[in-house]
Amino acid sequence: MHFETRCVHTGVDKDKTFNSCITPIYPSSTFYWDDLKTHRGFDYTRSGNPTRRALEENLAALEGGLDCRATSTGMSAIVTAMHLFKPGDHIITGHDIYGGTYRLFDDLLTEQGIRFSFVDMGNPEEVRAAVTPETKGIWIETPSNPLLNLIDVEAMVAVAKEHNLISIADNTFLSPYLQNPISMGVDVVVHSTTKYLNGHSDVVGGAVITTTKEHADRMYYVVNAMGLGCSPFDAWLVLRGIKTLGPRMEAHQRNAMALAEMMDAHPAVDRVYYPGLTTHPGHELAKRQQRGFGAMLSFDVKGDASDAERVMTSFKVFQLAESLGGVESLIEYPETMSHASISMEARRKAGISDRTIRVSVGIEHVDDLIADMKQALEG
Ligand SMILES: *Cc1c(COP(=O)(O)O)cnc(C)c1O
Repeated sequence: MHFETRCVHTGVDKDKTFNSCITPIYPSSTFYWDDLKTHRGFDYTRSGNPTRRALEENLAALEGGLDCRATSTGMSAIVTAMHLFKPGDHIITGHDIYGGTYRLFDDLLTEQGIRFSFVDMGNPEEVRAAVTPETKGIWIETPSNPLLNLIDVEAMVAVAKEHNLISIADNTFLSPYLQNPISMGVDVVVHSTTKYLNGHSDVVGGAVITTTKEHADRMYYVVNAMGLGCSPFDAWLVLRGIKTLGPRMEAHQRNAMALAEMMDAHPAVDRVYYPGLTTHPGHELAKRQQRGFGAMLSFDVKGDASDAERVMTSFKVFQLAESLGGVESLIEYPETMSHASISMEARRKAGISDRTIRVSVGIEHVDDLIADMKQALEG
């Protein structure tokens, strides 16, 4: 089956009582047993729920994994996946990973005795040099946030295999429609389903997709023991959102390409970060490991922070908000919003300036987006 067909049909045909065409929401917290030894596959919703299980089946299929656990947020998916490691273990990751992931790694998990190296993962030699006898994992996020730097997934997998490390990829920015890390050899994929998978900015959720029985069992154990599974209603919303993932991603990235080209030629813009532009340093790699360039882009306004502020407060269609991946176009300021939890020093080191604006391009009509961007830049 093709991807779009799996989006619509996997995990969907669940009601044999009335033959409903969609998966019902089962809000029941508990399920009664037929006798002391048998139940119908579910006993308590923290441990498992039919609606959540349908979403998990769907996501495992879309990423090409063996199993999936759907969690309450993207961060709880990341917390779950990090339970593949123990105190004393060392993990290598990028210096420009998602702000919330950075905070979790650098603060809470470091406090619990896991050690991290934040390196330039664009350079496989730097990653190889960071490996120590304690290194147990590589955490990959590509393209990165907010500057859309690309990481060569196969090169990272090669380092992981050389040293017997677990490789984990956060695939939130592209969704399984545009990139499948597991097909490139990655062991575990995590998602914030809040973004493109749900796609309508009305759920926070996450998922961990595994490729081995050992990892699947561990993730099941952690989600149940820590109580991190998503609600049946949220699972149902994400499952509904996924049905249109393919057509949405096509519309998102068509708009993003048109905007990036316009802005690249605009005198008020210093620099556009979008892998679809042939001038982007990751363009060739994106063509190789992705099936499209996605719909996240960033740009540096010419001038100073006050020019960036003027532009950001002049939009009429784009809304000033964090998050991404919904049908509506959003702009945000990494300096005070998405990346405020990272120190200024770390932001500058990662190349994020006080003139950098991030855009999540929605699926509105492209002419309206271009007109709004132009008037904000020229206003
Ligand atoms: C949003 C996001 C997360 C965190 O997800 P939440 O649903 O907000 O908890 C993790 N990684 C990336 C790349 C994200 O964009």
